[in-house]
Amino acid sequence: MTSNGQKEQLRSIPSVDTVLRDARVGALAGELSLAAVTNLVREVTDGAREAVLDGSPAPELDQITRQILERAERTWRNWPERVINATGVVLHTNLGRAPMSAAAIEAAGRAAAGYSDLEFDLETGKRGSRNSRISQVIADVTGAQAGMAVNNNASAVLLVLSAIAEGKEVIVSRGEAVEIGGGFRIPDVMLRSGAKLIEVGTTNRTYARDYSAAVTGDTAAILKVHPSNFSVQGFTHEPELAELVAVGREHEIPVLNDLGSGTLLDTRRFGMEREPTVQDSITDGAAITMFSGDKLLGGPQAGIICGDRELVDRVAKHPLARAVRMDKMALAALSATLLSYLRESAETEIPIWQMISATAESIQDRAAKWRDAAGRGELKPGRSTVGGGSLPGETLPTTVLAISGESNADSLAAKLRASKPPVIARIHEGELILDPRTVLPEEDKHVISALQSSLRDPGA
Ligand SMILES: *Cc1c(COP(=O)(O)O)cnc(C)c1O
Repeated sequence: MTSNGQKEQLRSIPSVDTVLRDARVGALAGELSLAAVTNLVREVTDGAREAVLDGSPAPELDQITRQILERAERTWRNWPERVINATGVVLHTNLGRAPMSAAAIEAAGRAAAGYSDLEFDLETGKRGSRNSRISQVIADVTGAQAGMAVNNNASAVLLVLSAIAEGKEVIVSRGEAVEIGGGFRIPDVMLRSGAKLIEVGTTNRTYARDYSAAVTGDTAAILKVHPSNFSVQGFTHEPELAELVAVGREHEIPVLNDLGSGTLLDTRRFGMEREPTVQDSITDGAAITMFSGDKLLGGPQAGIICGDRELVDRVAKHPLARAVRMDKMALAALSATLLSYLRESAETEIPIWQMISATAESIQDRAAKWRDAAGRGELKPGRSTVGGGSLPGETLPTTVLAISGESNADSLAAKLRASKPPVIARIHEGELILDPRTVLPEEDKHVISALQSSLRDPGA
């Protein structure tokens, strides 16, 4: 029931036309599409009407206008916005995973700015193949016979299963029929591919003989999935890849290996656990190895498929390959990223490896510089994480700037997020934590100015 007072309040809400006649809203409509601005005005005035029905007073025209301008600024700004990752999580999925190397950025820009020989053979002047060049570089870097690249690793797994096992059986350990994150579940992907999942072993222990016993005339492949975002501790067993390859050879079935992160460098060199490398997967005899482009490879979003030429060719010819093909900018960036590995300069050229290999002293120096400039906080030992579904539980020792005391960590974090560019920090036990490891050195000045202005504000 609306009271008379409410009816009066409802009538006092300015109409869509009235709001559109406001000079600032009119300017916005002139700059952008009139239809889009009109929709926004309608949404805001409808919202005001609902608020009145809920008992709030009707907003003035000025309030409505301000709300519209704020919403317009938030919705129609350039997006995604560059942010500074001071969380200490190197591959932060919510912040876009791997930042790319200068060479990869340049290559993507070059591919975007003009025409390119993406599918054109400059020697013959005829149509070329988008895949042949990247296939060669993937093979050169990984040691596989052939390679190809698709949109992401999720589509790589779907495509490989569809091409190799549609209508047939694929054997997977119960401990590896897992969810990777973002709704990517091995049993669901298997179903989509048309392959039949045959689970063997138990959640915690599976042996090579379990796979062997499950082989039938309908078996198309064995799939191994790297547990990249969790670890099972205690009474556990999963066979080594080489043991599965032996089972596969005995029954003449290929072993497909989803490495997830797939590193080309030995992570032990940086004081971490050993993450299985792509090269090992190939030497150990996996027929197909799959991994992401934007995890420990440190490049653009991509799914890399490499292995035996005959199988890779079969995958490349499957109709789904066209549906999950890579975009030219990402392909250019991937090619540049792989070349860094080929030159053996990944550690110095690729940002995530620069971050992972940063020395304790350089991190501490930067944290001290931030503290001195901010005039607040304390240097503390901390742990950075690799993240992004790589090396679960693995951390790297770091030095963080911890800001506590009279300030409220949540409100300081919000102020840093509202800085230009936004600085994303972490809160731990009531303290605001900033880790220099994941901040690119050229971003230090922004962190400092964000800290200075956020701490200067009363209430910080
Ligand atoms: C991350 C991951 C995927 C999905 O890779 P995207 O490139 O994110 O699509 C698949 N399998 C495993 C084991 C992973 O870790």
